[in-house]
Amino acid sequence: MASIKILKQKCIGCKKCIAGCPFGAITVHGEGKERKAVILNTCTLCGACVDYCKFAAIELTKDEIVHQDISKYQGVWVYCEQYKGQLRTVGLELLSQARRIADLLGTDVTAVLVGGSIADQAPTLISYGADQVIYVEDARLAELNDLLYTDVLTMLVKKHLPSIILLGATGFGRSLAPRVAARLKTGLTADCTKLDADIEKGLLLQTRPAFGGNLMATIITPNHRPQMATVRPRVFSPLTLDASRQGRIIHEATPTLNDKAAQILEEIESSGGVNIGEADILISVGKGIGSVKNIELAQELALLLGGAVAVSRPLVDCGWMPYLHQVGQTGKTVAPRLYIACGISGAIQHLAGIAAEKVVAVNTDPEAPIFKRADYGIVGDCVKFLEAMIEEVKAKNIHAL
Ligand SMILES: Cc1cc2nc3c(=O)[nH]c(=O)nc-3n(C[C@H](O)[C@H](O)[C@H](O)COP(=O)(O)OP(=O)(O)OC[C@H]3O[C@@H](n4cnc5c(N)ncnc54)[C@H](O)[C@@H]3O)c2cc1C
Ligand code: SF4
Ligand code: SF4
Repeated sequence: MASIKILKQKCIGCKKCIAGCPFGAITVHGEGKERKAVILNTCTLCGACVDYCKFAAIELTKDEIVHQDISKYQGVWVYCEQYKGQLRTVGLELLSQARRIADLLGTDVTAVLVGGSIADQAPTLISYGADQVIYVEDARLAELNDLLYTDVLTMLVKKHLPSIILLGATGFGRSLAPRVAARLKTGLTADCTKLDADIEKGLLLQTRPAFGGNLMATIITPNHRPQMATVRPRVFSPLTLDASRQGRIIHEATPTLNDKAAQILEEIESSGGVNIGEADILISVGKGIGSVKNIELAQELALLLGGAVAVSRPLVDCGWMPYLHQVGQTGKTVAPRLYIACGISGAIQHLAGIAAEKVVAVNTDPEAPIFKRADYGIVGDCVKFLEAMIEEVKAKNIHAL
């Protein structure tokens, strides 16, 4: 196990190491000769502080890297999530990336399908870019029980040894992917926004925002297989369906399932009918809307246009709107045809969730960063804008796109 400790006999309490810790995980306690550095439990064992100490008072012991035989692992897999037998689009979106990466690496794409009654969906996955589909069909898998799905996916990986596995960062995918990665003792990069390949080394390049979205980090998994990554829905687009594509469809038997470990007793619809990820038009409001009452204007316009209301994070934080409406790095990624940003500054964490075709921004501050992302910008009061839009849409009897 990796560990870190301060060698008290060497530490003089100079505090230099504090500046070297990006996680604020070092403090200095005590007076005079007893003044010593202390490592806090927020330490991530990153090792950045070690070189800051000129007295060699920080001792970091790293885990020994166990080199797996990775040469047997081949191919790019996409776990294609389904719900009640219907494919989720995120699987098709990931197939387009898997196809591109597999072509770069000169390997195959396999779609993996697991569920209660799903075999008839396999040809669709070939049409969207897979070379082969491996499916496991079992009535016990009709519900999305992440523990049972972990058993199945782990078994399939151990048998077929894929080099790369991509999964959707849906609610279910976010539970399944880390369980499978932990069982396989491999790495997992969550919420990637870009995927690429290092052709020479055969590595998946997994890019995602880091340090609060202030920089983009590209992560690799050099020593373990499979290389696992999740991507949120709507970050990528599916390929155009090509019904002429041919591929293999392989049925795998269900492994032994620990179906006593957890049972699903009831499913509760939590979205209240709102799915900003599916809407074609989003009226999105930020702090500039001024009051919770003014959000009703956005709701009225969204209703008139057949769209939905989205928000920036502060509106969720202050309880004005539920989390399900939040766009951004810690909310949803949305890809409407039209995104109208009302009183939103355009922080990088908000922009990370916008994959819209057209963005209209309304902001009183002409320097607001949202204007850099906008196709059309209006410098002005967003409340007046919403009132005028409602009036105009009603007067002209304009209907949804
Ligand atoms: C780790 C992390 C994750 C985060 N995740 C997210 C996320 O997922 N989603 C998200 O949105 N944020 C996220 N944030 C917060 C983000 O950094 C910003 O603080 C947030 O997006 C700002 O929201 P805002 O634009 O509504 O508010 P503000 O930044 O306060 O901007 C309000 C804007 O309204 C304008 N304005 C004021 N009055 C009016 C008016 N009458 N008419 C028109 N314009 C007006 C102002 O000029 C200003 O540009 C995250 C932050 C961190 C650190
Ligand atoms: S650990 Fe090193 S840098 Fe930190 S306070 Fe002690 S002597 Fe100074
Ligand atoms: S190892 Fe990293 S996180 Fe831990 S104290 Fe040093 S710099 Fe901070």
